[in-house]
Amino acid sequence: MAILNIVKEGDPVLRGKCREVTEITPRILTLLDDMKETLHKADGCGLAAPQVGVRRRICIVEVEKGELIEMINPEIIKKSGYQSEIEGCLSIPDKWGYTERPMEVTVKATDRNGKDFTVTGEGLKARAFCHEIDHLDGVLFTDKVTEFIDPSELE
Ligand code: ZN
Repeated sequence: MAILNIVKEGDPVLRGKCREVTEITPRILTLLDDMKETLHKADGCGLAAPQVGVRRRICIVEVEKGELIEMINPEIIKKSGYQSEIEGCLSIPDKWGYTERPMEVTVKATDRNGKDFTVTGEGLKARAFCHEIDHLDGVLFTDKVTEFIDPSELE
């Protein structure tokens, strides 16, 4: 496994629409492994392929430690409720702000074995699903912030 470089805001790869994965090749599996290691090193709760410079519809979320969810071609199929919480992004390390997201989200995706599955998350997990899937369409959380906050207030 390898730790990948996380690209930062301003890099055009973060603004493109990512391509679907049509075949789960060894390269895709290596990418998933490397993304996991990169996420752990960065101590984040989610990472999308474009954040490591790859324009493919792949993201991972790990809100509870040890419960890593790998999603290939993820799609939100159900959302309900509402939350407004503070969000940040590994690609935009200097900005934090409130975003409005659904409270509960169900995602349909493919796993590394090529099997389709659905997963439902609420609260922080729902937010992470929305945030990471937005990345696959070139959308950053800063596009949706209703109020930026001073990071020193987080301490
Ligand atoms: Zn992000």
